[in-house]
Amino acid sequence: MEQYGGFNNMWDAELDVVVAGAGGCGLVAALAAAEKGLEVGIFEKTEFVLGNTAASAGMIPAANTRFQKEAGIFETAEEMTEDILKKNHYESDYNLTLAVCKVSGYLVEWMVDSLQIQLSLVKEFKYPGQRNFRMHAPPSRSGLELIKKLKQAVTSKDNIYLLVKSEVSELITNENNEVIGIEVKTSDGVQRIKAKKVILATNGFGANKEMVRKYIPEIADALYFGYEANTGDAIRMGEKVDASIASLTGYQGHSAVAESQGILVTWGTIMMGGFMVNQNGDRFGDESHGYSEFAIQVLKQPGQCGYIIIDQHIYDQLISIEDFKQLVEMEAFKTSTSIDELASLLQLPADHLHKTFKSVHKAVEEGTDSFGRTEWPRKLASSYYAIKVSQLFSIRKVDC
Ligand SMILES: Cc1cc2nc3c(=O)[nH]c(=O)nc-3n(C[C@H](O)[C@H](O)[C@H](O)COP(=O)(O)OP(=O)(O)OC[C@H]3O[C@@H](n4cnc5c(N)ncnc54)[C@H](O)[C@@H]3O)c2cc1C
Repeated sequence: MEQYGGFNNMWDAELDVVVAGAGGCGLVAALAAAEKGLEVGIFEKTEFVLGNTAASAGMIPAANTRFQKEAGIFETAEEMTEDILKKNHYESDYNLTLAVCKVSGYLVEWMVDSLQIQLSLVKEFKYPGQRNFRMHAPPSRSGLELIKKLKQAVTSKDNIYLLVKSEVSELITNENNEVIGIEVKTSDGVQRIKAKKVILATNGFGANKEMVRKYIPEIADALYFGYEANTGDAIRMGEKVDASIASLTGYQGHSAVAESQGILVTWGTIMMGGFMVNQNGDRFGDESHGYSEFAIQVLKQPGQCGYIIIDQHIYDQLISIEDFKQLVEMEAFKTSTSIDELASLLQLPADHLHKTFKSVHKAVEEGTDSFGRTEWPRKLASSYYAIKVSQLFSIRKVDC
């Protein structure tokens, strides 16, 4: 990075590309630019390279990958686009969504081939609304592993500078209102960095209560489960230079955070045949519709909580997933060989729980239930496992 000294100089440094934010998005953008031989600076507000990416399950949705083809799945970007639009009620822009889907397969293969990050197709379960197995994840199925590998790739490149404790605070424009650089707050004061391209990868505004209240008032009082540094800085900076803003009302809910442990319970539990009951031992909706949509349902239940019930088969399939393994190690699951014992362990009315199991088994036989759920792969069989969950919200832009 070329340094400019001297009192009268306008710039402290000049780069080809600057990236604000060192989450998955920022690191991937920087690596892609560096591959073209460009000099790149990544400026990260916090001391760490984590972001929401580290908290995630590290699952990357992508169509038309060779990993899908190896599993006999031939899926087009158009099909992935249709699934997303159906799920988000056609709220995202078609062309933009298609463009993301078209590049998704290339992204996954590039990460494996060029960045040497091990990713495989998740075949244990499909996410709600996905017609095919489409998630690609590192072996541990953990975002922490993903971000660590991305950081390793970044630090191995001579033409990428990664600076932590460096908050991008302003965009600098020329007389034509074109962005030509950034201001960064560092421990040495404010630095002005000139760049040919500026990429804002600072995620959403979930940690900014004021913005959540302004744009998504219905979840203003819900718990935010995400990176505290994601305070909507890019939106504020963009608005200051008259950038147009859109799609600010989208958010991701989750109806299954293990209440005492603060860890997400994978929705694979549901998609593989598990179900959720409330404190009365009753089911209260179509869980397979999606963990985000179901968060609102959980919010309406007594105590604003629920219990996910699975069996040994599902447990065995999911034990290789890092978050799930951690929950098992923390003894978060109650386990039993009978419905009566399960009811007693969870302090649920046994007669209601028996009735629920009976109706679930009927749903498996008939292929649907009174809530319209059709995803019933098989009947649960003893041993049973159950975990208490509540809901939470994070904010991101597109639901894939
Ligand atoms: C619990 C959880 C599970 C999830 N699971 C999945 C999943 O399995 N699959 C999936 O596709 N999605 C998942 N998501 C969503 C996914 O994690 C995010 O959409 C994705 O990681 C966002 O990446 P990002 O780089 O945009 O943001 P982040 O990873 O959040 O990175 C943003 C970075 O910008 C930094 N920053 C903020 N402001 C500034 C500033 N002014 N200057 C410099 N730096 C700044 C932050 O400190 C942070 O490091 C999950 C989300 C959560 C919360």
